[in-house]
Amino acid sequence: MALIVQKYGGSSVGSVERIQAVAKRVCETVKAGNSLVVVVSAMGKTTDGLVKLASEISPHPSKREMDMLLSTGEQVSIALVSMALQQIGQPAISLTGAQVGIVTEAEHTRARILHIATQRIEKCLEEGRVVVIAGFQGISSTEELEITTLGRGGSDTSAVAIAAALNADKCEIYTDVPGILTTDPRLVPEAQLMEQITSDEMLELASLGAKVLHPRAVEIARNYGVRLVVRSSWTDHPGTIVDSPQPKPRSLINLEIARPVDDVQFDTNQAKISLLRVPDKPGIAAQLFGEIARQKVDVDLIIQSIHEGNTNDIAFTVMKRILKKAEAVASAIAPALRSSNHGELEEAEVMVQEQIAKVSIAGAGMIGRPGVAAEMFATLARKGVNIKMISTSEVKVSCVIDSADCDKAVTALRETFNIEESIPSSPYPPFSPSSSQPPVRGVALDMKQARLGIRRVPDLPGMAGKIFGTLADNKISVDMIIQSQRCHVIKGIPTRDIAFTVARVEAKQAQELLQKAAIECGWGEVVLDMEIAKVSVVGAGMVGQPGVAAKMFTALSQEQINIQMITTSEIKISCVVAEDQGVKALQAIHTAFELGGKEKFVMPT
Ligand code: ADP
Ligand code: ASP
Ligand code: MG
Repeated sequence: MALIVQKYGGSSVGSVERIQAVAKRVCETVKAGNSLVVVVSAMGKTTDGLVKLASEISPHPSKREMDMLLSTGEQVSIALVSMALQQIGQPAISLTGAQVGIVTEAEHTRARILHIATQRIEKCLEEGRVVVIAGFQGISSTEELEITTLGRGGSDTSAVAIAAALNADKCEIYTDVPGILTTDPRLVPEAQLMEQITSDEMLELASLGAKVLHPRAVEIARNYGVRLVVRSSWTDHPGTIVDSPQPKPRSLINLEIARPVDDVQFDTNQAKISLLRVPDKPGIAAQLFGEIARQKVDVDLIIQSIHEGNTNDIAFTVMKRILKKAEAVASAIAPALRSSNHGELEEAEVMVQEQIAKVSIAGAGMIGRPGVAAEMFATLARKGVNIKMISTSEVKVSCVIDSADCDKAVTALRETFNIEESIPSSPYPPFSPSSSQPPVRGVALDMKQARLGIRRVPDLPGMAGKIFGTLADNKISVDMIIQSQRCHVIKGIPTRDIAFTVARVEAKQAQELLQKAAIECGWGEVVLDMEIAKVSVVGAGMVGQPGVAAKMFTALSQEQINIQMITTSEIKISCVVAEDQGVKALQAIHTAFELGGKEKFVMPT
């Protein structure tokens, strides 16, 4: 007999008929000889409706009261699903998060799960009942036993955490699409279903805007090795399997807040090439990386910072053994990348730095935890290590530093994050690119981000720590951090611009916090752009495959879309573009990587 956790999202329980269909499926799964725990979301768009109601009462409602309000949505659906089961003769019981003992931090509207008591669930299962649990909610570990919620979309996280706590055989996420597709079918109807995806790829896609799974749910599945499947509640299609590698044993205490960092890595085999003052117009990145790809040069990190005047800087790293070739390509193309400076045409300048090292911290537990990257920067600062380049993904933060600083940086980072020495070359996350798989599996669009730029930040150790520490202290998560390559000397101190993206809802607050710190820290203007979109391509198969970046940039340039910022990690490339070009950018990239199928997707009604 298998123990299965099934989660049904809002649209899957959106009406009486849908609830009855859910009850029928649950009942059939039990009849097939399984024990079942069912996690449900609020009906249809209930949560959105409650948010709107609150906003009509108060522009800034208290977070505690928001949790009190939003948690009611799920309480309605658990009762109805349980009744529907009882009605067809299946014993069932509904339980709220508090009744189960889903214990969370006291952090309202974004609580992380600390522990899940399993006794009551297990007792009910033994009695032959289906246990129907409210997703998205928990109870604080404090004396007051406050009701908390996990953040929008959090029912997925509840389900996977319950599956981990119960050591369930499988966790099935039922939704309104047949599984995980190459992109959001609402925006690109040609999107195709994937039979399988690795948890690393899904983690990136989920955090880059694919709302089909809550990123924290993927993180838990990955950490605890939960067998995870995403399927449609409308059909019997098998859906998409999210594969996780065999995990190291982990405690179920502090479930979502245990070690954020699993590994500290370094690489001294790379060199950095920067092109300064390339024109800020569509097609430039495509031209540069197109030529690099034609020469079969594999690029690791790519970074393009916010523009200054009408020019940008682009920097990238390559393996040292191909540095000469890469430099030759960059130098050959530089004269063609001219920008006008006060009426005069100026060539892009090529700069090479060979004595660099890349140090990285990696671990799925750093998702949405702003303090982790800040702690890395602060650790480097304490050791007097200056950061030349920062690249972030959901599960990794990498800094390019002077190679002379590498040993002390790695030692200090291992100490900070409590990591025993590991084999330096061990790849993390454990990518398993298969030759039969295309380099890009999926593409995503995130329209909920804003961009902040800080001008003229002194190029001294500690500045990144100060900026991101300030934001982390205020619980603001940062994404896509980019330092400009260009240096301006002000009063004898070299300065650089730093740009990054944050959630739009937190952007104004972030800007104010940084403006306050600006005088004390000696940095310049803090500029905010709300009207951006981030498009990304993801795939474990892009490791060691030249040309993926070039293809993405070319697709954007053919649509006359200007790239405002670029960041990469091993398995993703993200570009910031203007908000009103986001959907067009997504469609262009999806087509360029030939991800579309012949049939157009139609949403179920
Ligand atoms: P639920 O209410 O079941 O949790 P959500 O609305 O949270 O459902 O997530 C499902 C939606 O995610 C789909 O309707 C689809 O529009 C969107 N989506 C975005 N990216 C993808 C993707 N790559 N694959 C499938 N669905 C996606
Ligand atoms: N009902 C909650 C929301 O709409 C949680 C969920 O559906 O996952 O965000
Ligand atoms: Mg959802």
